[in-house]
Amino acid sequence: MPDRSTIFALSSGRPPAAIAVVRASGAQARTALEKLAGRVPKPRQAALVRVRDPATGEAIDEALALWFPAPHSETGEDVAELHLHGGHAVIAGVLDALGAIEGCRLAEPGEFTRRAFENGRLDLTAVEGLADLIAAETPAQRRQAFRQLKGLIGDRAEAWRRRLIEILALVEARIDFSDEADVPEDLIGPALHAAQQLRDEIAAVLADGRRGERLRDGLVVAIAGPPNAGKSTLFNRLARREAAIVSPFAGTTRDIIEVHLDLDGYPVTLLDTAGIRDSAEPVEQEGVRRARDRAASADLVLWVIEGSAGGRTYEETPDALNATEKWLIRNKIDLVGDKSCGSKGPHSIRDEYRFIYSISAVHGEGVETLVTALSAFVREYFSGGESGIVTRARHRRSLEETVAALDRVAGQAANGNSREELIAEELRAAATTLGRLTGRIDVEDILDVIFRDFCIGK
Ligand code: GDP
Repeated sequence: MPDRSTIFALSSGRPPAAIAVVRASGAQARTALEKLAGRVPKPRQAALVRVRDPATGEAIDEALALWFPAPHSETGEDVAELHLHGGHAVIAGVLDALGAIEGCRLAEPGEFTRRAFENGRLDLTAVEGLADLIAAETPAQRRQAFRQLKGLIGDRAEAWRRRLIEILALVEARIDFSDEADVPEDLIGPALHAAQQLRDEIAAVLADGRRGERLRDGLVVAIAGPPNAGKSTLFNRLARREAAIVSPFAGTTRDIIEVHLDLDGYPVTLLDTAGIRDSAEPVEQEGVRRARDRAASADLVLWVIEGSAGGRTYEETPDALNATEKWLIRNKIDLVGDKSCGSKGPHSIRDEYRFIYSISAVHGEGVETLVTALSAFVREYFSGGESGIVTRARHRRSLEETVAALDRVAGQAANGNSREELIAEELRAAATTLGRLTGRIDVEDILDVIFRDFCIGK
């Protein structure tokens, strides 16, 4: 039984604030407006209202009221909105009054969006895009999230699914109506051809170097190296210099080991492996484990050594870190007076380092050059090819399953007898994975397409 209560919540940020938006969605939204605001404004037009406690008649606030009758609302249900003054007591008074209305209750986290999904206002990928838009920390993340909210992957997946259903319809028609004179003989050939085309298109989208996923999570740059080389000092300087956006993982109580940087609009997660230490505390342990995993698969490792340590330390390999790219950072040049920056040094330096930078993490020398190089690295990473259609592992899994099913279609086709049933089976599997991606799986429409396109007329 679906829960049909009317839900309400404070939808704007933490009070006190200039304005607070309280929303209600469901069959009682209209009643809520009548009771609290004394009237229901014209649909989608703001009206100035006196908000009163229905129990006492006491005025709580003066507010803007909005009325969005179903289905043209955020959730697809009747929605009422009050733009109040954002004080604690004002909000509490209004929420209490709403709670007193029969059939109204406080919304759970994400419940408005959940209803929007259930009512077909948003597909699953758009729901994810919305979540990403709210979480976006840099302009590039924001753009990607907005495109996803607006259907960049959802519409495409749905279009692919429709094509699959058309292909399936061809094959099913061949199976079910093979005796009928008006069904063309060779339906399988064109169906297979179309399936192959679709497969290649999806595979091309998957071959994106995971840029979308990376943009969502941030490129991971790990600072690593021997003890006392100055890793934490460099980490703190970069974090400060780039006005680190957030530190979601201050997981150890002693150290912040992860900060998010905005480099030219692109997100970078900077990890200080010096902060990654063992801990007895379970929550910390989990954080430490995650940080280790992330460092181990970092996109770039900055291997920090003491510039004065001589050639010997160059041989220290960041073994545990199998990053595709490693840069050598010779720190503490203020102690040795070696100012060479940015170029590959003598033969003693191992080839695994693409660049070598000499810096003083304490005094800041060379750090600007390093940051410029980091920005260029990140820009280059995100600039190749079409950006960000696949932004989550979930999307990738679904699309990979679709490609695998389409590969099996080709395999069945090569196999001879009674292949049509098996081909149809795999096509159905492929359509289902796409349906799961957008969150809408229905098989009824397969039949619709058969009867629409072939005019079988039975
Ligand atoms: P970590 O163990 O690699 O994280 O190293 P720390 O960042 O804790 O630094 C170890 C010591 O080296 C500290 O006393 C720092 O102040 C010092 N240090 C770090 N960078 C520099 C630098 O560029 N120049 C000088 N002179 N000392 C530095």
